[in-house]
Amino acid sequence: MNNIINFMGIRLMNYTMSEAIDSIVDKANRRSSTAVAFINADCVNKFNNLKYYKSLKYMDYIFADGIGIKIASMIFGNSVRDNVNGTDMFPFLLERCEQCDLSVYFYGADEKTVNKLVMNLSEQYKELDIVGHHSGYTEKNDEAKLIKTIQEKKPQIIFVAKGAPLQEEWMSQNRDHFPDSVMIGVGGLFDFYSGRIKRAPKILRLVKLEWLYRLYCEPTRLWRRYILGNPIFLLRVIYHKLFGGKNEV
Ligand code: UDP
Repeated sequence: MNNIINFMGIRLMNYTMSEAIDSIVDKANRRSSTAVAFINADCVNKFNNLKYYKSLKYMDYIFADGIGIKIASMIFGNSVRDNVNGTDMFPFLLERCEQCDLSVYFYGADEKTVNKLVMNLSEQYKELDIVGHHSGYTEKNDEAKLIKTIQEKKPQIIFVAKGAPLQEEWMSQNRDHFPDSVMIGVGGLFDFYSGRIKRAPKILRLVKLEWLYRLYCEPTRLWRRYILGNPIFLLRVIYHKLFGGKNEV
């Protein structure tokens, strides 16, 4: 089976969750410079942002996050094997990090959230080697200092949680600074695992309606993303199917 799908010009790795975790752990074990992103329907709506679209070309692994990408792939004649999203991957990946003694760094979200995240994870994963953390609201002037700090800590995995497109742009701009690390863009994940925002009940996740719960929790911030974004995404996919567009991989 072909493990790479051309998704509107983006190389999508058609992995199962466990294959994706194995690949990340393998790269981290070998200290091989790697950038990882997840794309969902909202990310596709940002493809017009050329800086973002180009930054995705610098990613080594892009995984299919959510039902939107699955449906779109079907429309394009491909079958996505699994929903490989960062939020579901995170606990399994951390377990493997613990077992394999991989060091991790957390960069993103506001100060209080990232502090709470690290507190929770230190309690839950007693053997996890957390080498540092930093809020994602860095002043441009402080960037160089932050990069130097992370370099000194030499994490094998850097979780970057600044949301798309910021995190992908940050990873593509800075990957040369971290030749020994795997960087993973994980969006709002720190908000969930810090407990700041509750994840949707399992039943909603099973019926692929997690987005509805997120909308219910943060309507002011997210109504555009989902109420306008979902139909726009579908129209975009249908347009692409009919008229083509970005096809290079
Ligand atoms: N964020 C950040 N720095 C910024 C802007 C956003 O660290 O300059 C964080 C924000 O606090 C939140 C995450 O990035 O934790 C974005 O969450 P969102 O749910 O929008 O991301 P998604 O998962 O949808 O990409």
